[in-house]
Amino acid sequence: MAQGTARRHRVVIVGAGFGGLFAAKALRRADVDITLINGTAYHLFQPLLYQVATGILSEGEIAPPIREILKRQRNVDVKLGWVTDVDVAAKKVLVSAPGIDYTVEYDTLVVGAGASQSYFGNDGFADHAPGMKSIDDALELRARIFGAFELADLHEDPAERERWMTFVVVGAGPTGVEMAGQIAELAHRNLPGQYKHIDPRRARVILIDAVDAVLKTFGDRLSTRALRQLHLLGVEVELETKVVGVDATGIDVDTPRGRERISSMTKMWAAGVAAPPLAGKLAAAAGVKTDRAGRILVEPDCTLPGHPEIFAVGDMMALDNLPGVAQVAIQSGRHAADQIKRRLAGRETGQKFTYFDKGSMATISRFHAVASIGKVHVSGFVGWLMWLAVHLLYLVGFKNRVTAVLHWFVSFLGRGRAERVATFQQAYARAAVREYGDPFARGRVSTGPDAPK
Ligand SMILES: Cc1cc2nc3c(=O)[nH]c(=O)nc-3n(C[C@H](O)[C@H](O)[C@H](O)COP(=O)(O)OP(=O)(O)OC[C@H]3O[C@@H](n4cnc5c(N)ncnc54)[C@H](O)[C@@H]3O)c2cc1C
Repeated sequence: MAQGTARRHRVVIVGAGFGGLFAAKALRRADVDITLINGTAYHLFQPLLYQVATGILSEGEIAPPIREILKRQRNVDVKLGWVTDVDVAAKKVLVSAPGIDYTVEYDTLVVGAGASQSYFGNDGFADHAPGMKSIDDALELRARIFGAFELADLHEDPAERERWMTFVVVGAGPTGVEMAGQIAELAHRNLPGQYKHIDPRRARVILIDAVDAVLKTFGDRLSTRALRQLHLLGVEVELETKVVGVDATGIDVDTPRGRERISSMTKMWAAGVAAPPLAGKLAAAAGVKTDRAGRILVEPDCTLPGHPEIFAVGDMMALDNLPGVAQVAIQSGRHAADQIKRRLAGRETGQKFTYFDKGSMATISRFHAVASIGKVHVSGFVGWLMWLAVHLLYLVGFKNRVTAVLHWFVSFLGRGRAERVATFQQAYARAAVREYGDPFARGRVSTGPDAPK
């Protein structure tokens, strides 16, 4: 109980991603009342979104309900809604949910609102090249990928057929490499023999990046191995190639050979992240600076300068050039929780957040991954086993782990894809929402990657 008051210390956590969720969990025994506000009712395991988009996993396996995860934690109240602004002086957040706006007061605020997709100023590209940030994105891509093979099977004109069977992935970081690898496996391993008029093995998968290497952050050795594996899968890799236009039927690129157009009905964007809209709002409200990507420049202890009562964690904080990865979010969320507990116990606070790098990994195809852990660089089957172990460890919920393993058996040992359902609404909803707007959100500002566009 806070001294002299009848109530407990109120901690509001914005975002139930890796940062927010792990902060909430780390406070489970603390003498505080937590309100955890998230734009969706589920926690999203983003690293496996590409497996939803390519029919390996179901969306439920990577997005368990937040209230189910925290059902045994008595000091937390889970609320649905997008935080649209923060009133720093009055210490309250303004929240918007379908058909209802509300406010929540705090004594300490922890904000972990993640990151948004960046199209480098060309937001119109999103209509034709969905990003990979949300369940909506993954289901839309799944509908477009499987729908493309269906439509290719209907067309007799060879040019039209080729357009439907050409898949372009922009961005050769881990997400782009994983997407390209999985579409190639789909075409070469899972789908052959299922169509009367097309051979899925003739599909073209093109991976594009403006830089000169795939998986550049993994170092030269692993990057070269990943490139070799992509070539073995039949992926065409176009490096030092910049996207200058995207429309319904293709993509325009500046290559070392000059400007070219690739005819393709199915494009996806896995390049570039930006801070979420809330980062700018919070920075302005608190009078603090952001970096070039819009992330909040925090103090070494993850608090906002001049505001020891506000923490920014995970992807939306800028500190020591830390990367936007799950471990930074988990560890910074836990650090914020630790600072809150120390403060309430009257102990010294302000300790610097120190990141322990557990390494990074990316799968290229079944049984083939690259992993970089400190000085250890592994690729191939051993890398894939490490990838499997880490993802099983961090997938939230026992039930999800069991069903994910079953689905991996189906896809990696067998030749099936368990999740191939694709609806027209999934494929077209983005355009409809843009055209007509969200009926609940009309006249209001909504933020966040899943927020109504
Ligand atoms: C496709 C993809 C693949 C990835 N692969 C890897 C990988 O292999 N390894 C790795 O380490 N990292 C990977 N990452 C990065 C990793 O997922 C992020 O670094 C991590 O999720 C960041 O955690 P976070 O808590 O900061 O944000 P997030 O996990 O993004 O969570 C933010 C939460 O805040 C909510 N939110 C946002 N705005 C608001 C608002 N205004 N109001 C209320 N709620 C809001 C969102 O709904 C979301 O639940 C990947 C990311 C993506 C997109």
